[in-house]
Amino acid sequence: MMKTQTTHPLGTKARILLSSVFGPYAQDDEYGSRKINPMELYQNQVTRLQGAYSLRMFHRSFALLMIQANIDAPCTVLDFPSLDRFTLEIKNQSYDIIGISSIGPNIGKVRTMCHLIRAYQPHAMVLVGGHIASIENLDKMIEADRIVKGDGVRWFRNFLGQNPELPLTHPMAYSAFGARIMGTTLRDKPGDVAAILIPSVGCPIGCNFCSTSALFGGKGRFINFFKTGDEIFNVMDQMERKLKVRSFFILDENFLLHRKRALRLLELMEKHQKGWTLNVFSSARVIKSYTVEQLVGLGIIWVWMGLEGKNNQYRKLNDIDTRDLVRNLQSHGIRVLGSTIIGLEDHTPENMTDAIEYAVSHETDFHQFMLYTPNPGTPLYEKHKKAGTLFSEAEFSMADAHGQYRFNYRHPHIDSGMEGRFLINAFTRDFQINGPSLGRLIRTMLKGWQRYKNHPDKRIRERYQWDTAPIQTIYAGAVWAMKKRFYKNKATHQKLNILLKDLYREFGWKTRIVAPITGIYCLAAIINEERRLKKGWAYEPETFYEKNQAALALEQREMVRKKKTITLNFPVPKPAPGICASSKSGSY
Ligand code: SF4
Repeated sequence: MMKTQTTHPLGTKARILLSSVFGPYAQDDEYGSRKINPMELYQNQVTRLQGAYSLRMFHRSFALLMIQANIDAPCTVLDFPSLDRFTLEIKNQSYDIIGISSIGPNIGKVRTMCHLIRAYQPHAMVLVGGHIASIENLDKMIEADRIVKGDGVRWFRNFLGQNPELPLTHPMAYSAFGARIMGTTLRDKPGDVAAILIPSVGCPIGCNFCSTSALFGGKGRFINFFKTGDEIFNVMDQMERKLKVRSFFILDENFLLHRKRALRLLELMEKHQKGWTLNVFSSARVIKSYTVEQLVGLGIIWVWMGLEGKNNQYRKLNDIDTRDLVRNLQSHGIRVLGSTIIGLEDHTPENMTDAIEYAVSHETDFHQFMLYTPNPGTPLYEKHKKAGTLFSEAEFSMADAHGQYRFNYRHPHIDSGMEGRFLINAFTRDFQINGPSLGRLIRTMLKGWQRYKNHPDKRIRERYQWDTAPIQTIYAGAVWAMKKRFYKNKATHQKLNILLKDLYREFGWKTRIVAPITGIYCLAAIINEERRLKKGWAYEPETFYEKNQAALALEQREMVRKKKTITLNFPVPKPAPGICASSKSGSY
């Protein structure tokens, strides 16, 4: 039964463990892991069929880090544990609250973890949050005390008796780790990886399928963690110094939608001569509402944008020529990741080829394809529920509701089983026609360099020089290697050949010398990676174990206490009757 108390009796003295679900992830198992649903965003749903050229990387469970940084209670984060590592933690350490964050398809793992907590820490309160919280009647499916929906920071602050209105402390964290492409793991050194920045959550546009928008209130709603451009600038300034970064991944569904805030940030970046680069998510209409000068001034180098599909119903795309928009952004060096939905209401087996060709014709640098999926909490889910078209648990396992395999409902025109093939066709066509994403990205970077290398504003000029520097050396080597490897595919080979020649023409003898030298290494790495992938190699994230200041202080106190106990090697007088020896330590 769900507990109803509004605050924890121990308040900020409660010891907290926050954990993501356990791995390994990229395998089919009885807990609901799926080989085609690895813990990698790009390999999972963007560069899935690009083989050795797929961009591989992991992202931390940022919601857990955000909560940990904003509560006064001792809090430990265990990210990407194995089942053994999670079990060991709850066997050996005592906690008052254990929180698990998950997406819906990992419900089997959450169930197992709740069960283990009940066995090893029966007194601990079990919380479950993240996208899984939107599942109807979740409380009846798992042994949790609380299901936490929406803003976890505010929820925790209230629950621990802290002031929920206090300003937020942003965790100092990198956006990704373990980045790997063409068989080479890239450096995770300061300066090489962008910092993660979360200014807001939710999106007021409220598209009918959008689970993130729904999780934070749906249409018309969002939560601003940082309300002003000044606040964001200060956080970025701190990150620049602490993490030694000048690149930021803005994890905000529609960062540019908050226009006043973005333009104030631009003002401050200009005033303080910050040549930062920003990777953002944006809807097409919103990005079009900015001038190119504003986008370039803000340092936007990467946009993740919903293209959804031809003649779609979404206002955010009305009257916008998205192909023209993509081309224009790329001509300024802005890389575009387009996102297309397979299985919209009007998609039929007859028009799917057209829909896929239309998506591919955007020639984006990266392309995400996802099945049109009614996720719990969204208006689309409610619509299907009302119509009685959702599959039952017996017909469809929740572990498969990740948007890369099957519909979880009866589509009006597409028979069950066909959608997976359409999805594969879409990824395949994009790869066949547009070639490896790395080549496309280098082409866009070259365009940016050529346009801005002599820009009169030093801040802009130097930023482009810094951002595009790798295309003169290591990336040119990658193009050299890809060109060799695609010798059988005439169209892609030709594209890469032209790109390599353009790089040589632009950068001269230095690039001509370096490209084949680094290229040979890249080629060998590609061939090795292809062998590895053929053997079924899967990429798994490492485990992170981090304590906040309060948890470190508690650990310190406990160590001192234990030390004192150990050094008592002389006879200890028995406590006087009526005085309990453990009563003092019990006050922790
Ligand atoms: S615009 Fe994008 S983020 Fe906003 S609701 Fe639509 S799909 Fe979600």
